[in-house]
Amino acid sequence: MSRVVTPDIRDDDAPDASLRPQLLADFVGQPQACANLKVFIDAARSRGEALDHVLFVGPPGLGKTTLAQIVARELGVNFRATSGPVIAKAGDLAALLTNLEERDVLFIDEIHRLSPAVEEILYPALEDFQLDLIIGEGPAARSVKIELAPFTLVGATTRLGLLTTPLRDRFGIPVRLNFYSVAELEHIVRRGARILGMTLTEDGATEVARRSRGTPRIATRLLRRVRDFASADAVEAVDAKVADRALQRLEVDSLGFDALDRRYMELIAMSFGGGPVGIETIAAALSEPRDAIEEIVEPFLIQQGFVQRTPRGRLLAANAFRHLGLEAPASPAA
Ligand code: ADP
Repeated sequence: MSRVVTPDIRDDDAPDASLRPQLLADFVGQPQACANLKVFIDAARSRGEALDHVLFVGPPGLGKTTLAQIVARELGVNFRATSGPVIAKAGDLAALLTNLEERDVLFIDEIHRLSPAVEEILYPALEDFQLDLIIGEGPAARSVKIELAPFTLVGATTRLGLLTTPLRDRFGIPVRLNFYSVAELEHIVRRGARILGMTLTEDGATEVARRSRGTPRIATRLLRRVRDFASADAVEAVDAKVADRALQRLEVDSLGFDALDRRYMELIAMSFGGGPVGIETIAAALSEPRDAIEEIVEPFLIQQGFVQRTPRGRLLAANAFRHLGLEAPASPAA
């Protein structure tokens, strides 16, 4: 999917490193998560101990990687990053772990995608900072224990439900990230505009923020695209009108929904009378992978109250019908 409002990373996101906040104090939003992290980081630092393991949970693009980097920077330690699907064998993880220095942060993105064999050797590493490895095969095989430097694992996942319970239980600091408010996103796009050297009026910032699906990654991406349209049209300052025109050309509607969001809602509204309809049916009808729909399309629609997940399937709310310009069924589809 190469949607301009996808919260997943796109190729044209690469150069936004300068927009990434570097310290907790620069990080906008997630006030409770940040306040708690600050307490735990300060305590670990003053005791000279490794911070307890941290698990960030939330939809893509909300700042999990950014916060992991901030945690390492605030602790004054090295940051090493990898991701679940990249660690193919137990030996790959062992190599990563044995190279960590005392109190370092190891970041594993998509941690729900670790293979069971790799997870198995992660448990003692997390609990006792020890590796139990089997060297050799058959009768010659023997087990060796390797002591590790105390370290902090920072895991990130979009799907808490896919994490095994033993792995989940080993994180002392679970942190859930929520979608951002429009005010928080305004703050983020104003900061982004300053860094990019672009003139953005107050109502311009509001327009971009409102249409960013509660997600900073989308906000900064839309800001860049709006800037491109503005410079193509030789416009100096980006106000609400300029932003609106650019976002319309990108097919991002007034609430930040794009063509796929609308196709999803129209399908439930028109082909299934508002639901309930099963996720497999929706995925097949839209020709999109089920995972992508569950991880990328639905969370924001659910958070906005446009869609409900029920045991019998997805239900479309009356405000979704209204947004599509359709008549809602007389009695709620429930
Ligand atoms: P995730 O790991 O959850 O997918 P990232 O940490 O990669 O998300 O963040 C996506 C992008 O959004 C980054 O480029 C980052 O600069 C920006 N971003 C995320 N959170 C914030 C924030 N609170 N303030 C400003 N920018 C943010």
